[in-house]
Amino acid sequence: MRKIVKRFFISLLITGITVLAGSPANTAKAAPRNPQLQKPKNIIYMIGDGMGIGQLEIGRLFEYGKEGTLFMQTLPHAGLARTYSANNFVTDSAAGATALATGRKTNNGMIGVTPDGKEVPSILDLFKKDGKKTGVISTSLVTDATPAGFTASVTNRWSGQPEIARQQLKNQVDVILGGGGDFFEPKNQNGLDLVNQYRKNGYSYVTDRNQLASVKGGKVLGLFNSSYMTYMQDREEAGSKEPTLNEMAQKGIETLSAGNKGFFVMIEGARIDHAAHSSDIPGIWRELIEFDEAVKYAVNWAEKRGDTLVVVTADHETMGVSAAEPINIEAYKRIKVSPEFMASKLIFDPNTGEFTAESVKSAFYHYAGLMITDKEVSDFNLRIKANKGQMYASKHAAWEIGSIIAQHMNAGINSSRIRALSSTGGHTANMVPIFAFGPGSERFDGVFNNIEIPKRMGQLLGYQF
Ligand SMILES: [Zn+2]
Repeated sequence: MRKIVKRFFISLLITGITVLAGSPANTAKAAPRNPQLQKPKNIIYMIGDGMGIGQLEIGRLFEYGKEGTLFMQTLPHAGLARTYSANNFVTDSAAGATALATGRKTNNGMIGVTPDGKEVPSILDLFKKDGKKTGVISTSLVTDATPAGFTASVTNRWSGQPEIARQQLKNQVDVILGGGGDFFEPKNQNGLDLVNQYRKNGYSYVTDRNQLASVKGGKVLGLFNSSYMTYMQDREEAGSKEPTLNEMAQKGIETLSAGNKGFFVMIEGARIDHAAHSSDIPGIWRELIEFDEAVKYAVNWAEKRGDTLVVVTADHETMGVSAAEPINIEAYKRIKVSPEFMASKLIFDPNTGEFTAESVKSAFYHYAGLMITDKEVSDFNLRIKANKGQMYASKHAAWEIGSIIAQHMNAGINSSRIRALSSTGGHTANMVPIFAFGPGSERFDGVFNNIEIPKRMGQLLGYQF
């Protein structure tokens, strides 16, 4: 009985939104072409990093209005996942990725290993073992937690990044697209030119969207930024030549599906999480919509074939984002750059060890239309000093800028104080959504633990972890 009620509630939730709202162009067909076919040949696993229900609501509300709907919300099957890690009720992205990739809970900070440091295979490894092609695509560093969870095993996500870059070559991952070029450089590889090693192993190496577009199959390493790929918000200001997540997804799927062996690809909208850490509501909106566009491409591609399972989920929620009622949507929509971009415009005075009041006030006024007080400026500087030495120290100016804006705009999001006290920089244990399409997608209905997702994928293919 409870199960029926729960199912009913979830389907009501999803179809309700669709029926009430749907813009017709934004809707997936309910059934795969061949409903008999339960064993998918390919899996496209899409992860919105930090994408909780609140992030979905912000994206939906800002982009389509209260009656609109996201594309991913139109998929025929849906569920919710719990995300806790082995050693905390709140996961970080490393343990989150490990759960989603290997079906094992591990400690925060660990990738592709159990809490005792034992290496475990990922769903990507199982596809590889079966002779299929594999890929990881992310707007983060390709060596960051989520892509690493599928392609590498290290006990420390931070110090392990150069090693992850080497393991991705050793594991012959066919398509690797994203940011993080720095970790492939000789300076981070004990003098080794890792990119050259990739080339010698038959990879095309590309660094901008035009080069990516001209790739004609084979193995590809695309590193489009030395660090994270630029926020969608900042791409124009930065004169970016990076491909969008959607463009990377298109090229990745096109490349991996050639040759007809079948493939597995993980596609991550990584910067939803980063924007949420920065309390950057417009950033969450833009990154979420970019991710939703990639989902739309993947599902439309899969729909034409009938042999591809698409599963969309998140590794955890970030910052307790909610679509709170007093939020000033119109003022938020006028902000055209990220807090990180604003932080890059501040002037640091080494004599006082603080950002100058003038530069702080002018950044808030110029980019967010806000007049902030002297008290707010001095609190801002104090909080940055107090947070020194904690994780993501370099990001703190941006995070504090986002928090001040969020207060002025009445956004529903955790405070800067909660974030400072959190070991994950503001992640929460809130459940995350699952949406699924294609053969086997009915296996993803309901409320369950995130480690079930790769296990169920493996079962569909007859793979043993
Ligand atoms: Zn995060």
